[in-house]
Amino acid sequence: MPIATVNPANGETLKTYEAMGEEELERRLQLAEATFRTYRTTAFAERARLLNRAADLLDEDQPEIARVMTTEMGKPVKQARAEAAKCAKAMRWYADHAEELLADEEPAEADVKDSGASRALVRYRPMGPVLAVMPWNFPLWQVVRFAAPALMAGNVGLLKHASNVPQTALYLEDLFHRAGFPEGCFQTLLIGSGAVDDILRDERIKAATLTGSEPAGRAVASTASEMIKKTVLELGGSDPYVVMPSADVDRAARVAVTARVQNNGQSCIAAKRFIVHTDVYDRFAERFTEGMNALTVGDPLAEDTEVGPLASEQGRGDLEELVDDARRSGAQVLCGGERPDRPGWYYPPTVLAGVTREMRIHREEAFGPVATLYRAADLDEAVLIANDSPFGLSSNVWTRDGAEVDRFVRDLEAGGVYVNGMTASHPAFPFGGVKRSGYGRELSGHGIREFCNITTVWHG
Ligand code: NAP
Repeated sequence: MPIATVNPANGETLKTYEAMGEEELERRLQLAEATFRTYRTTAFAERARLLNRAADLLDEDQPEIARVMTTEMGKPVKQARAEAAKCAKAMRWYADHAEELLADEEPAEADVKDSGASRALVRYRPMGPVLAVMPWNFPLWQVVRFAAPALMAGNVGLLKHASNVPQTALYLEDLFHRAGFPEGCFQTLLIGSGAVDDILRDERIKAATLTGSEPAGRAVASTASEMIKKTVLELGGSDPYVVMPSADVDRAARVAVTARVQNNGQSCIAAKRFIVHTDVYDRFAERFTEGMNALTVGDPLAEDTEVGPLASEQGRGDLEELVDDARRSGAQVLCGGERPDRPGWYYPPTVLAGVTREMRIHREEAFGPVATLYRAADLDEAVLIANDSPFGLSSNVWTRDGAEVDRFVRDLEAGGVYVNGMTASHPAFPFGGVKRSGYGRELSGHGIREFCNITTVWHG
């Protein structure tokens, strides 16, 4: 894949970049290692000052960087601005909370005594240069979600961003630099995916985090395991969205539309499988389909656009194949399902009913504005369908019955259960999945501690 900005709204190549050569990569690795030696000893207050400055600069840059993101990957510009604002918020959150999240822990006095110590504590120390392999779908957020805690913990970051968002990738390096972080704290490596393996094997890289597809996760995790390096993987999702009879069905249907088509449907935590109790199925299906049909699809730079093009021609082709496979096997297309005759990689909001286990879309991730509807006879069947997926990122349930909530929280195989609402990440809550959605957590205290050397300090 060339490293280039190709506008998904019309297929035009706007800017191409040469991949960095061996010498440049070596220079950057050396710089990362050298910077870490001093940066690791900086005070939390100093790191917080720099990160708050980065947040302020990002706020100032918001309109421009939002346009860049939209031009690189096609998300509606309003959503791109919201993404930039969310990044600034996460930076400030970590600037405010990191010191407390990484404060020394004191084991219970009785245990300290039992160990024969006069004093003991647990200290969170940084690990070193961390490689971040990131996807294009939230080109700022995915990176900031890693970088803000990593930098606050005293680590330094090397970013290998997706090849179709090079301008956003370079912007991020520039942002941290302008904020005053020492050179080498955060560097962007303009490289293709084929160059990741060698870098990951380099002794100077201490750990890696990858957000992306399962094959990419598998490749990075297997090399990292060979090298005995810690990884965090945030992979795909096919989140269930369960609606029970006691729910506010109209509201559930309205929120379902946003949950499915946010970011042009290309979000790992988008609700993708809509599992509706038979008593309210018809009403939900009607309202939901109406809502999907009513969306404004168009130029992502236009303020009123709700759904833009998919990020790549390949992505649209993959999605189309999933829909065609389901249709051939008997799924009913309640709306959408045909690519429009216009330039750019558009695909309409689509609802499929009558989806069965044999269809690919039941087990694979639909990365675009395509929803599947399932009818469930009762709660047990809803849980069965929800868990009948290789993925386990997050989940959404709509019910006003407390006992049902308890059952869902107990039984859904996912890293999140969102009740009467849609999944959305927040800096204070851990984010990540189970099963083939990956492992480890980002955000909150759990996220910042992933790349720390958890050190026992024991005094005789
Ligand atoms: P992708 O193809 O896996 O790419 C993600 C990143 O991995 C890119 O930087 C890519 O580089 C790199 N990469 C690809 N193959 C690699 C390999 N063999 N070795 C090393 N690096 C490799 O995924 P995508 O299409 O950009 O993103 C969509 C996927 O990401 C979806 O499955 C989505 O659900 C998932 N995702 C998950 C989360 C989460 O938090 N769980 C969030 C967002 C997205 P190139 O661009 O150069 O190929």
